[in-house]
Amino acid sequence: MNERDSETIAGLLEQMGYVAAERGSIAAGGGCTELKDGEAGGGAAGSDGIVMKGGETAGLRAAKDGETGRFAAAAGFEDADVIVVNTCSVRENADNRFFGLLGHIKHVKMRRPDVIVAVCGCMMQQGHIVDKIREKHAWVDLIFGTHNIDALPGLIEEVLARRSEEPAVSVLPERVSMAEGLPAKRRYSFKASVNIMYGCNNYCTYCIVPYTRGREISRDTYSILAEVRELAAAGTKEILLLGQNVNSYAGGAADFADLITMVDKVPGIKRIRFMTSHPKDLSDKLIERFSAAGTSRAESLCPSIHLPIQSGSSRILELMNRHYTKEGYIRLVEKLRAARPDIVISTDFIVGFPGEDEEDFEHTMDVIERVRFDAAFTFLYSPRTGTPAAEYDDPTPPEIKQKRFDRMVKRLNEITLEINRTYVGTVHDVLVEGPSKTDPSMLSGRTFGNKLVNFPAPPDCVAAAAPIGTPLLAMTGVIVPVRITSVNVD
Ligand code: SF4
Repeated sequence: MNERDSETIAGLLEQMGYVAAERGSIAAGGGCTELKDGEAGGGAAGSDGIVMKGGETAGLRAAKDGETGRFAAAAGFEDADVIVVNTCSVRENADNRFFGLLGHIKHVKMRRPDVIVAVCGCMMQQGHIVDKIREKHAWVDLIFGTHNIDALPGLIEEVLARRSEEPAVSVLPERVSMAEGLPAKRRYSFKASVNIMYGCNNYCTYCIVPYTRGREISRDTYSILAEVRELAAAGTKEILLLGQNVNSYAGGAADFADLITMVDKVPGIKRIRFMTSHPKDLSDKLIERFSAAGTSRAESLCPSIHLPIQSGSSRILELMNRHYTKEGYIRLVEKLRAARPDIVISTDFIVGFPGEDEEDFEHTMDVIERVRFDAAFTFLYSPRTGTPAAEYDDPTPPEIKQKRFDRMVKRLNEITLEINRTYVGTVHDVLVEGPSKTDPSMLSGRTFGNKLVNFPAPPDCVAAAAPIGTPLLAMTGVIVPVRITSVNVD
């Protein structure tokens, strides 16, 4: 969600005349345990994506050309005219990272008082964070929240006109209307995230999202389809439908399963993914969209699902307010695999939730053996101020939690490797995302089931692309068949 918001912020800045600065990264980490894209947004008009450990922060930069009055590219914080820090508050450490980053930016502001520093995102929806900024970082020019990103141009104009010693603050408690048709500076041309809903009604006891992102509100079905059509016309092949709990989408003309069918019919869209699914709302109707055959099948729906379980203990799931049991979750997996045997299933686990005992943890290990997840994001529980679980008694010593965590991760990795080994010798269509991050001489992409594949560029493609000088980049966005020859855990 944060990544998509950053794309919108970047688009709004671009519309104001700002131009992209380089992208950067402070640190890596998850946001909501249910949103794991892990890639920061921006990449645009004065935009830069920065990911912070334990939370996601995208900073946007822009610089103004003194002669023309237009904004030109800035090399980074040092010569930017606008710095926007887009925060995520899901994990405790995100606060520390954010305030550490503000410390860096302060040096720039002290040297160049004219630079506009804005902070936004879900941290700003928490009163104690805003108070702390006003008290200790009053040099920040603008604080705005998650519900009024569309107001950014006006807010920046206000800051420019007023230039006060105090930050301007514009944080709304709830989203009052759905701003449609906002510009976006997309990070990729071949794949795009499309928000279908905002907020969450679930109030999992460890999670801050319902308090910072507000209650669920779904976008109008036809607005979503118009955005998808526009993206497809511009060459986007893969759509990621985004929401905190996409399974409860209710956009007027469609439920989530129907929305997938509608997106599936948009010419040019080859792959549909979605994130994130709450197990309690995963319907049989949606599972039918995955089916290997039949009239309900959605051809472009990728056979992969991120289905966070969090714990294998029904007792802990109740304490988490998750509204499903261990056995109920396993039944869902069985249904998914009956519909689509090759479906790739990933999940989230939180280890060390307050009150988790040995028996609870053994239930988690049992689920791992029975489900055999393709991949899992694993977290040691850390309390979030303002959530019910932060007040729960937590008698388990940290070293016991760490032992459980290590044991779980080891077994998850073994299973991932065992599953991945079954891919050796098979051929998969891979959507090329560009040069590999670990070996720039290789290409990197994703299978239909979302497995990451690194491979050498096919010689004929290199030869065909050679005249434009960047054969690996030229392959970006192309779908190619790749034979898997070796595997690892990632
Ligand atoms: S479903 Fe639970 S974990 Fe996910 S965003 Fe909502 S409250 Fe947070």
